Amino acid sequence: MARVTTEALALRRTPFRETSQIAEFLTRDRGRVGLILKGVMRPKSRMGGGVDLLDHCRVTYTARRGSRSMPPLVERQVLSHHPGMRHREDLMRAGLYMLELLRALVPEGQRVPGLFGLSVAFLAALDTEPEPGRLAPMTFALEGGLLRMTGFELVLDRCVSCHRRPEGSMALRCDPQRGGIVCSTCRDDEDGNYVPLSSASARLIMGLTGADPLRLRGLTLPENIENDVRRFFDRTFLHVLERPPRAAVMSQR
Ligand SMILES: [Zn+2]
Repeated sequence: MARVTTEALALRRTPFRETSQIAEFLTRDRGRVGLILKGVMRPKSRMGGGVDLLDHCRVTYTARRGSRSMPPLVERQVLSHHPGMRHREDLMRAGLYMLELLRALVPEGQRVPGLFGLSVAFLAALDTEPEPGRLAPMTFALEGGLLRMTGFELVLDRCVSCHRRPEGSMALRCDPQRGGIVCSTCRDDEDGNYVPLSSASARLIMGLTGADPLRLRGLTLPENIENDVRRFFDRTFLHVLERPPRAAVMSQR
């Protein structure tokens, strides 16, 4: 048996028996890990109650090599409960949207330390209570980073078919199914299922992808660009998830 200590975010949790919980975490060092929290709902539990979604914590558990049973959580220390995020509904919604994307896109059994770091930074940025108008660039940085780190990033700097780079401020057409932008020569069907995207928006997406959300707090975007980029990510996630995200944050404004 090996004892593992790593940082973690709870992706989901369900009650188990009378006093226990089963929780799935995204961890910095081990990817997704399911743990059983024995007796955690007992009033006198040493683990301080059940797990809350979106808590950033440090967990210790015993990993049994080759064992099929779920390892028990031994110790948990909450590093941040994000109180600033929790008292505003729009910020909570953004946090839950992130969880939904992580649950859907992070493969089992894969270490994703970069994505873990980006997720923690996004929650920390939400916890600073940015004005509602400043939320979009942070969310775009997360969405772009998530797509890149899970292998779903779209090509935006050249045509996916002929590899020609778009010139100047050309209006672009993006096809999530084909993996990125398609130039007018390579488009076989003008009325196809393309997402329109301005060159400025495409450059912005590439610039924001994977950027530290905390550093984007001072940034506001022109409304037309924000709408353009919002539509781009909505359509891209619709393609990747094969359904609209349930917690679609931004498009409901
Ligand atoms: Zn082309």
